[in-house]
Amino acid sequence: MNIIFSYKAWVLDFSSIICKAGYKKILNYARLKTGFLFYSLFHLYIHKGRPVSITVEPCNVCNLKCTECPSGQGNLSRKNGRMSFSVFNKIVEDIYPYCAYLNMYFQGEPLLNNHIFDFIKTASEKNIYTSLSTNAQLLDDEALQKIIDNKLDRIIISMDGATQEIYEKYRVSGSLELVKESVKKIILFKKQKQTSKPFVIVQFLVTRQNENQISEIKTFCKNSGVDMLTLKSIQLTNPEKESELLPSNQYFSRYKKSSDGKIILKKQIKYCWRSWSSAVITWDGNVLPCCFDKDAKHIMGNISEKNITEIFSEEKFHAFRKNAGSVKAHFGICKNCI
Ligand code: SF4
Repeated sequence: MNIIFSYKAWVLDFSSIICKAGYKKILNYARLKTGFLFYSLFHLYIHKGRPVSITVEPCNVCNLKCTECPSGQGNLSRKNGRMSFSVFNKIVEDIYPYCAYLNMYFQGEPLLNNHIFDFIKTASEKNIYTSLSTNAQLLDDEALQKIIDNKLDRIIISMDGATQEIYEKYRVSGSLELVKESVKKIILFKKQKQTSKPFVIVQFLVTRQNENQISEIKTFCKNSGVDMLTLKSIQLTNPEKESELLPSNQYFSRYKKSSDGKIILKKQIKYCWRSWSSAVITWDGNVLPCCFDKDAKHIMGNISEKNITEIFSEEKFHAFRKNAGSVKAHFGICKNCI
């Protein structure tokens, strides 16, 4: 659920996505969307096009220990590392003519990669819309200035509580004060530089522990000049197990109890648009079908061997798409996907 505080900023942000896209990227999107509609309506598989959006993983390590995060909990089964500038540059050189949207976060805290500001600058110069999500523990003045100067389009700041006691129940080792300071400062610096970028989103992951603090967060965001607040439902690593994190207000949960007492998804998807239209690239260049594949179990290829366009159009990726979706649940990751 999104709560928009500044419609002017929201319109500017949306226009920025469209303006940066241009006709080639819009045509690419239209081709993919048409193919996807044919597939979902008539089961006719015609997949033509290149990824509309790409997610890169600047690094898969983190400075916090959030309770449901495999990176923070040290549960990722793959190697830890940081994306080099040459890998990032290779990706951008490949995708910039057709990719409209670049997420610069997957597992881990992106600001732990020293190249992150160069990543933002490089992608912005190639006219790609850029988005970064952070726990805001490392957003000092210098980092905030660089983010604004290098023209990041969107920043998502995690703030999952209105008091330190509640905040740190999920964001273990995190400081709420640092988050609040970062939010206020980025808005101040934007004003000083007279720029609308980045669009500032505060993301609040709703849990049973913090659900009664939503109104306080809303007030904080409104008073601080945040552009949008996102109330996000939590994804459980193991939904079959009863979890104390699930909010009691069902509206904020993606799960429900079935008649036999099991925790199941409220709604399931049959055809997967994410793997149809986008891809995720880990810090070491492995191409994955979506962000649910945190452990990189479904590697479609590596960008050191082929470019993304080739990997995106190979039989392995096509076969994956045909079988993806939480209703079909051919793959473990899809069982927990909305
Ligand atoms: S988990 Fe499966 S259904 Fe969900 S986005 Fe990934 S590939 Fe698609």
